[in-house]
Amino acid sequence: MDSRRDFLKKTAALTLGAITANSVLNEVFASNTFSVLDGGKYSLPALPYAYDALEPHIDKLTMEIHHGKHHKAYVDNMNKALETVDGNILGSPQSFDNIFDKIAKLPVALRNNAGGHYNHMVFWQMMAAPKTNAPNAPKGKLAEAIKTTFGSFEEFQKQFTDTAMKRFGSGWAWLVKTKDGKLVITSTPNQDNPLMNLDSIEVKGKPVLALDVWEHAYYLKNQNKRADYITSWWNVVNWECCEGLFVG
Ligand code: MN
Repeated sequence: MDSRRDFLKKTAALTLGAITANSVLNEVFASNTFSVLDGGKYSLPALPYAYDALEPHIDKLTMEIHHGKHHKAYVDNMNKALETVDGNILGSPQSFDNIFDKIAKLPVALRNNAGGHYNHMVFWQMMAAPKTNAPNAPKGKLAEAIKTTFGSFEEFQKQFTDTAMKRFGSGWAWLVKTKDGKLVITSTPNQDNPLMNLDSIEVKGKPVLALDVWEHAYYLKNQNKRADYITSWWNVVNWECCEGLFVG
């Protein structure tokens, strides 16, 4: 099957909701063609849940604006930025893997907006409606690796929260699985991410958990209180998804 047909098949499956959150994310990480539409245009995928699904921890209006306006703008501006790129530099396909690998040679507008599109796609998948049987914590191999690496889940949460709090201005906090299989907490500015082939990315690897700490992610509900937003967010982390990424 050629790649375009393969892509259209995946898109159809997504539209029908036939692919689970885990497999969607694995597609995002693994595929060279995921989310590229016909003609090379990227599109805004629907959220994997309703806008109010994360209530009361993350409010409906924030999710509507964050997904429908902010994320959409990254997609639109990514498509515009792609039009300005010399085909000889980027080559084909225009996949995230390819774009992030060559990012140092590409326009800043593409770095910002391809990063923005990708980071939000994974961020949405890494959250889920809160469970009634709290506390919300990882299980299985990821839980074991977190305990081995950080001593306990509570200590991991403390260190991750601390990293997210210390990100000056806009950016992201990440739990990354490095090439040698280690779990490392890190942070990136703006819409950079651990997949970008840049000297400024301190920890490179596969994102297992992502947290958006741009003010647009929390200002409507929490105003200037980033700590309150992070406390709320821990209740809606989709640990099944993170586990799938860690072992996948
Ligand atoms: Mn955001």
